[in-house]
Amino acid sequence: MDLLEYQGKQLFDRHGVPVPSGSPATTVEEAVAAADEIGHPCVVKAQVLTGGRGKAGGVQLADDPAETEARARDILGLDIRGHVVRKLWIERASEIAKEYYLSVTFDRGTKKPLLMLTKEGGVEIEQVAEESPDALVRLHLDASEGFQPWVARRLIYGARVEDAGEQKQIGAIMESLYRAFVEFDAMLCEINPLIVTPDGEVKALDSKFTVDDNALFRHPDISEMRDTAAADPIEAFAREKGVTYVKLDGNVGICGNGAGLSMSTVDVVAHVGGRPANFCDLGGGGSAQGVVDALEVITRDPQVKSIFFNVFGGITRGDEVARGILEALERLDMSKYPIVVRLDGTNAVEGRALLAEAGKPNIHTEATMLDGARRAVELAK
Ligand code: GDP
Ligand code: MN
Repeated sequence: MDLLEYQGKQLFDRHGVPVPSGSPATTVEEAVAAADEIGHPCVVKAQVLTGGRGKAGGVQLADDPAETEARARDILGLDIRGHVVRKLWIERASEIAKEYYLSVTFDRGTKKPLLMLTKEGGVEIEQVAEESPDALVRLHLDASEGFQPWVARRLIYGARVEDAGEQKQIGAIMESLYRAFVEFDAMLCEINPLIVTPDGEVKALDSKFTVDDNALFRHPDISEMRDTAAADPIEAFAREKGVTYVKLDGNVGICGNGAGLSMSTVDVVAHVGGRPANFCDLGGGGSAQGVVDALEVITRDPQVKSIFFNVFGGITRGDEVARGILEALERLDMSKYPIVVRLDGTNAVEGRALLAEAGKPNIHTEATMLDGARRAVELAK
């Protein structure tokens, strides 16, 4: 789960990483009121889950209330690479002498946290890595040893940070950032830029914070930060229902059991000339309730014209899936959707018998995945 800049900064603050003070706002009025409290000059910052906001005009300085108002008006509603700005962060403006970069990520290759520091911050880190790889110092940590003072020294000297005051502050920030990374089960904690002010004060001007989804149950307060407004409404609904769902842009709704089969189904539908509307995985259980939930999610997409159930029973039982489909037909208005069902494996015979008995005119059973896909594509026309 990715956090917005200001949410990440709030978590930084809890572990003592210095951040400028600020306040969130969702309207121009709130932005002006926040700036009044914080004082001018201030920075008006778009809160969207994408980087490069500065270049896109989503980060603007304002010297007085009138400017804050104008900048807030400009940025609210701005589309930054498909992310529409609905929230602002009004921050006390900082004076910048230098822009560094500091991050902790989880390196899946080595299965270790990776610390990175460079004095060439502010720009895209990929660019630094490519153009001046020597300027970017990388160090893997042994999670069982934890953060040791030599780690900070190695990175700081490696990056050639020479000022003693900066060295001291960056060392402390690094340790705090690592603690935040561990405590919040993060996959990424990035500060770009980590600035040095003309007075020699070091602080985090930006934050990128990603928390491991699988650890969210340990952090109910972070779970609540999820920006449901920014997410696709159907995907948000799916998450609420606990349905694995990815929206695609075609018109054939797809339901499989297991990620592998669901993905293959997407491919087969495309192979026979159709366009999948989504990827939906019923999971291993495939209970009747799970099927009802999945259908409720899929039918929220107005582009869906037909639905293809491709189920290979293992743990999932064909009769259970059939019951789920029939139950969904009772509970939801599914009359306008042709539903193609291919059932195979455990209890497939019982499942097909249940569907046949029910005699619903919009249910079509097919014996193979290929025939099922062809039928679903045809019925979507
Ligand atoms: P990003 O473009 O999404 O990475 O957003 P950032 O928060 O990193 O801001 C982009 C750039 O705006 C920074 O690299 C700074 O150069 C500039 N900026 C942001 N906040 C301030 C500020 O308080 N004062 C000044 N002078 N510049 C700022
Ligand atoms: Mn940045």
